[in-house]
Amino acid sequence: MKLSWKQFDLHLRHAFRISRGVEIVDPVMIVSFEHDGIAGFGEASPTPRYHETIETVAAFLKRVDLSRFDDPFQTEDILLYVQSLTPVGSPLGENTSAKCAVDIALHDWIGKKLNVPLYKLLGLDKSKTALSSFTIGIDSPDMLIKKIREAEEYPVLKIKLGMENDRETIKTIRSATDKVLRVDANEGWTTKELALERIKWLQDENVEFVEQPMPAAQLDDMKWLRAKITMPLIADENVIGLRDIPKLGDAFDGINIKLMKCTGIREAVRMIHTARAMNMKIMMGCMIETAVAISAAAHLSPLLDYADLDGNVLITDDPFDGVRNVRGKLELNDKPGLGVVLRN
Ligand SMILES: [Mg+2]
Repeated sequence: MKLSWKQFDLHLRHAFRISRGVEIVDPVMIVSFEHDGIAGFGEASPTPRYHETIETVAAFLKRVDLSRFDDPFQTEDILLYVQSLTPVGSPLGENTSAKCAVDIALHDWIGKKLNVPLYKLLGLDKSKTALSSFTIGIDSPDMLIKKIREAEEYPVLKIKLGMENDRETIKTIRSATDKVLRVDANEGWTTKELALERIKWLQDENVEFVEQPMPAAQLDDMKWLRAKITMPLIADENVIGLRDIPKLGDAFDGINIKLMKCTGIREAVRMIHTARAMNMKIMMGCMIETAVAISAAAHLSPLLDYADLDGNVLITDDPFDGVRNVRGKLELNDKPGLGVVLRN
């Protein structure tokens, strides 16, 4: 069993602004897991919010020694070993996207070895893949209008808020479209009073839900807020992995699972069932990612209430062909594993 990896620099269609900063080029690490003449692809898209960079991903992958295993089907043991390489709660982060790359590659390999698409291995129906939202980053009014026009084919828009001029942003968008909006404040409303005021205002603007209104550390404020409104509130920065979910029952109506935060497909499945048992809504989101990681999430997407899996349509140079985004609907092919191939 052998791992190898290569960095790809993805170029964003537009400079992408959220309440924490701006990005134009985003590096990802593509991992290949080889065994028995078959290669499975995985991907890490590191995020500084979770203490990762392309360098920490490479450093982590160097530490992964798979020579102690000889059967890739023993995914439970292999992934437990990979998890153990950085302890839970480590102050310098837990290398979640690097771990995710290994998890995805292993699942792709198994699908290829068995000649079965991943959604079938998961027991899911390809016709039930999710309709993904399309994300509009924070921008000037002119650019917002331009982006709304470019997003014509996508029926659901996700709007990044959490700034001083949130009302102006929504008014600009509403001057151009009456589509359903989902709002992501990315922890940008720093007091509970401000969050309450903004959400009350959004209730009249055909907004489906609000993601992460306040900083993750303000969980008690979230409980106060949730008791005062009916708009569904979805946790993102508050939920990294399975262990975070039990704390969120009184504070949020749902969770946003991202493969890069939670370490991969295996943990995501556990999180989906745990959140269901707590009567919470399930969303999956993404970072800026290629078709490798977006396809991995798309295979799971029949289990979701909401999908925000547009990471590879926000870039101009996806090196992989895999899941297709057809007017927001994620369409999988029937190739084995993830169904992704490197473009020439
Ligand atoms: Mg978010």
